[in-house]
Amino acid sequence: MMAASREHHTVPLSVLLKRELANERVEKPEILYGQACQSKKGEDFTLLKTECQRIVGDGITTYSVFGVSLIQQTLFFFFFFFFQLFDGHNGSAAAIYTKENLLNNFIAAMPPDLNKEEWVAALPRALVAGFVKTDKDFQQRARTSGTTVTFAVIEGLVITVASVGDSRCILESAEGDLYYLSADHRLECNEEERERITASGGEVGRLNTGGGAEIGPLRCWPGGLCLSRSIGDVDVGEYIVPVPYVKQIKLSTGGGRLIISSDGVWDALSDEVALDCCRGMPVEAAAAQIVKEAVQVKGLRDDTTCIVIDIVPPEKPAAPLPTPKKLGRGVFKSMFRKRSPESSSQIDKEFLEPDVVEELFEEGSAMLSERFCFDAMHFCVKCRLDMKYPLCKMFKLFICAVCQVEIKPDEGISIHVGSSDFGKLRPWDGPFLCSSCQEKKEAMEGKRPPGDRHSSDSD
Ligand SMILES: [Zn+2]
Repeated sequence: MMAASREHHTVPLSVLLKRELANERVEKPEILYGQACQSKKGEDFTLLKTECQRIVGDGITTYSVFGVSLIQQTLFFFFFFFFQLFDGHNGSAAAIYTKENLLNNFIAAMPPDLNKEEWVAALPRALVAGFVKTDKDFQQRARTSGTTVTFAVIEGLVITVASVGDSRCILESAEGDLYYLSADHRLECNEEERERITASGGEVGRLNTGGGAEIGPLRCWPGGLCLSRSIGDVDVGEYIVPVPYVKQIKLSTGGGRLIISSDGVWDALSDEVALDCCRGMPVEAAAAQIVKEAVQVKGLRDDTTCIVIDIVPPEKPAAPLPTPKKLGRGVFKSMFRKRSPESSSQIDKEFLEPDVVEELFEEGSAMLSERFCFDAMHFCVKCRLDMKYPLCKMFKLFICAVCQVEIKPDEGISIHVGSSDFGKLRPWDGPFLCSSCQEKKEAMEGKRPPGDRHSSDSD
């Protein structure tokens, strides 16, 4: 220490990261995942990005010990996982394009310099922006084909799922409760979407065989697509929108199991059968078992893809495990630590907050103005953290909220122009859209005059 007394001793970043990592490991659940697929048309794709890190510096703290200055950088450090499933139709171009671009478009829409809580709160809007940009960019290539997307982001116990189309994401909590984390955008079973499409100028009906007989599921005309939302499908109608349904929940410390599958699975198996047929199996075997069961029931009539993700709580030596063993569902539950009701007062203190699954956010509107509005933001932030984020942290000023291009001074259009809430807002209230994204927004809302679809291309 003698010679070093005037030196600044900086703790190496790698040491800090390892320290942070060790701390995180104590309280972070383990994320285990496996996938399986039987291909028929070659139009199902998945993308798994795991253990992505985000490091956020929060200023420099300098302090002095025995005359030696120490500088420590305070870091927020967290891991997150991305799971994506794409089920293409009318070819695989849209599914492949989305697999290659959606993640980057979503990340570009995430504001910088957010801590972990802010990052989680910003996910729903950035997911919407990422979906719309990916669709807009793909459509400019003017190719046929479209795709469903189910995009799950897992950070600790918080699961955020954005979806378009009819692939499904379900969750069974450690308590044995079933949650739907995706919407079903099949016209057949979604009246709200049928009304939206009809109001935007589309027609909804079954295939007419000519003799007056109608067969098959409800479809949107022109085009004949069974889905009301997708990425791609430039040849169908612009009211087939890419705006995802987004649901965000926080698991109890007991964890849970997530299943993401294409309709090849769900056309053959109910949610309960899918969960029950692989109960207690490790994730890889569970995914394979679900695909096997689905193919056994219906034969291999469609691409059949499944991702199984277990969110397993870390071992806490202080928490005594309850002794009673149950049959059936208990096999799965025994994977998770459970809190016994007659636990000691020390453990009660540890769990002052209710340890239940909490629904943090849910929004499925197809209107961009509703997805980016103040109310939606304050609602989800309030119920989650009881604190407010400044708007400037959530949207970058003078940057298009969808495609992230810089907006020229004479160009920015408030996203709320034309919406019924606009009376409450000032014209300079953001977020803003560039003129090309404003055009996209109007087209999705059925406000672009018929026959005017490609007029902007010649600009
Ligand atoms: Zn834009």
